[in-house]
Amino acid sequence: MQLDQDLINEIREKNDILDLVSQYVKLEKRGRNYIGLCPFHDEKTPSFSVSVEKQICHCFGCKKGGNVFQFLEQIENISFVEAVRRLGDSVGIQVEKSEPVTVANDHMKMIEMHELLRDYYHYVLKAIEEAEPALQYLYDRGFTDEIINREKIGYSPNISHFAHDFLEKRGFDKALAFEAGLLSRNEENFSYYDRFRDRIMFPINNSQGHTVGFSGRTYKNEEPKYLNSPETPIFQKRQILYHLDVARKPIRQEDEVILLEGFMDVIKVTESGLKNTIATMGTALSKEHILLLKKLAGNVTLMFDGDNAGQKATLSVGETLLNEGINTFVVPIKKGMDPDEMIKDMGQEAFYNYVTHNKLSFVSYKLKQWSGQVASNDLVFDQRLKEATSDISRIKSPALRKKVLHEASELFKVDFDNLNFEVDKYIPQSAPQFTPGPRIVTYSKSERAERLVLKHFFKDKYLFRKMEGHITAEHFKKQEHQKIFIALTGYYESSDQFNVSQFLSFVPAHCQSDTISIDEVMINHDPSVEEIEDYIFAIHQEQEELRSLNQLKQLLSEAIKEGNVTERDRLMKAIIDYNRQKKLK
Ligand SMILES: [Zn+2]
Repeated sequence: MQLDQDLINEIREKNDILDLVSQYVKLEKRGRNYIGLCPFHDEKTPSFSVSVEKQICHCFGCKKGGNVFQFLEQIENISFVEAVRRLGDSVGIQVEKSEPVTVANDHMKMIEMHELLRDYYHYVLKAIEEAEPALQYLYDRGFTDEIINREKIGYSPNISHFAHDFLEKRGFDKALAFEAGLLSRNEENFSYYDRFRDRIMFPINNSQGHTVGFSGRTYKNEEPKYLNSPETPIFQKRQILYHLDVARKPIRQEDEVILLEGFMDVIKVTESGLKNTIATMGTALSKEHILLLKKLAGNVTLMFDGDNAGQKATLSVGETLLNEGINTFVVPIKKGMDPDEMIKDMGQEAFYNYVTHNKLSFVSYKLKQWSGQVASNDLVFDQRLKEATSDISRIKSPALRKKVLHEASELFKVDFDNLNFEVDKYIPQSAPQFTPGPRIVTYSKSERAERLVLKHFFKDKYLFRKMEGHITAEHFKKQEHQKIFIALTGYYESSDQFNVSQFLSFVPAHCQSDTISIDEVMINHDPSVEEIEDYIFAIHQEQEELRSLNQLKQLLSEAIKEGNVTERDRLMKAIIDYNRQKKLK
C-alpha cells in the first residue's frame, strides 16, 4: 500500500517526538535533550536521548530509535503503514486501513485464537442460560455491564469441547492451541479438551493490548479460585503487568504507578478513578517487572491487602524497590480488607479521596510498623535504628528525607542532628551526572572525509545538486555512506530543506545510526566545490593506496610459493617502505 508523502509529512509534523516517547519512557531534561532508560535494551544508566529540536530519538547503546514513525514501529512491533495510521488517528487524520499482508507466525496465531475465543466467551456470558449464575455473581461483586463490556469478561461453559470445537472449526491447529494454554491434553491417548470449564473468564492483555492469556475464576467456591493460563511463548508472568496497556498513559501523566496485589483489584480501583493501577499475575515482582517500572515512572505506590500476607508483601516489595532507587510509597488498606472491599465499604469517591490523602513514604510506613516493638525491646531498638538509618539515606528527595528523619527521631527518641549525621554517612557522594553521547569512535581518514562530505550535503541542497555530476554512490567507500548518499538523492527530489527526522524515513534501518551521527558533525563554513573534491580525492587516494598494498602482498605470497628469494626480499622491502611512508603522513 502506497501512502501519500504529503500526508505522511503532515502526520509526522503534527506528532511531537517528546509526547510520543514520554508515553513509554520516563524522561529527564538534560541540556538541550531529554534522556531516559532505553526501552529497547536492558541498562542501568540512561543512553536513550530525545531531541525535540530535531524531532528524533536515539539510543547510543543499541542504536534504535529514529523519528516518530520509526519509534512507534519498533516499540509496538508494527509496520510502517500501521504506525502512520495510529499516529494519524492521534492527531485526527484518517489514513485508510491497510490490508494485512503478512503471513501469521505461530505467536500471531496464538494471539488470534485468544482474541477470537475471548470475544466468544464474552458473547456467551450474556447469551446462554447456563451462564446466568456467573453473570449474577459478577453483578453481586459490583461489576457493572459497562465494566464487563470494557474488560470483555466472559464465561466458559461446562463443556469439554467448547473451545476445542470453536478453534477446530476455524482451522486452528490443536497442538498449537495446547501450546497456547487454551486446551489441555490427555497424555494417555493424546486427545485434546478444554482447559477452562465453567469459569468466569478474565482476558489478560500484554502491554500492546493483545490478549495473551486468561484468568478463569470460579463462582462456586471451587479449587483453584483462579485458574490462570500456563506459561506459554506469549504469556510469561514475569513480564506481564495487568492493565499496563490501558494504564500506561495515566502512569506517565502522574509519573506514578499504583501497584496492586490482584488483577480484580485493578479493575475496581481503576473504576474508582485511579487509572494508573496495575498488578502482577499472582507472582512476585520479577527483575523484568522492576526494569519496566523504572522506565515508566519515578514513583511506585504499593496498595496491597490489609492482611498479614499483604503486609509482608508490602515490606518485601518495598525493600526491593527502595534498593533499586525507586521512590516508593504505601497506601495502607484497612485491616482485613482488600482494596475492592474497601471500595464497597466506603464508596468509590471516598476511596479515591482516601488514597490521595493517605500515601506514606515506604520508610515512614516501616517506622509505623515498628512503633510497638522498639519501646520495650532494646535489641530490636538497636537493630531497627540501624535499618532505619540506612533506609532513610536511600530516600532521594532531600525534603522527604528530612520529614522521615523527624519521624524516626521521634520514634527512637534520638536527637535529630545526631541521626541526620548518621544518615549522611550512608548517602553516597553524588556521582557526576552522566550524559549520553556517542561513545568515542575513531574514524579512518577516508571515513572522516566521507562524513564531512555528507554533512555538507545535509546542510546545503544547492551544493549537493552542484556536485551530483561529479560524485556517485561508488565514490563512497563505506557501504552505509553509499546508502545515505542514494537516500539523499531521493529525498531532495521532494524536499528543499534538510530535516533529519523526515530524512530518516528514507534511510535503511541499518544506516540510521550513521545518519544521526553525521548530522551531529560540526562544520562551520560553507565549503567550495574544490574542497569537496579534495575530500573525494582523499577517499580515493586511501583506496588506491590500499589497493597497491594488497597487490604487493599478493605478489609476495606468490614469490614465497615459487621460492623466488630475490623477488621475495624486494617485495618485503617495498611493503616495509610503504608502511613507513604511511606512518610519516
Ligand atoms: Zn538501547
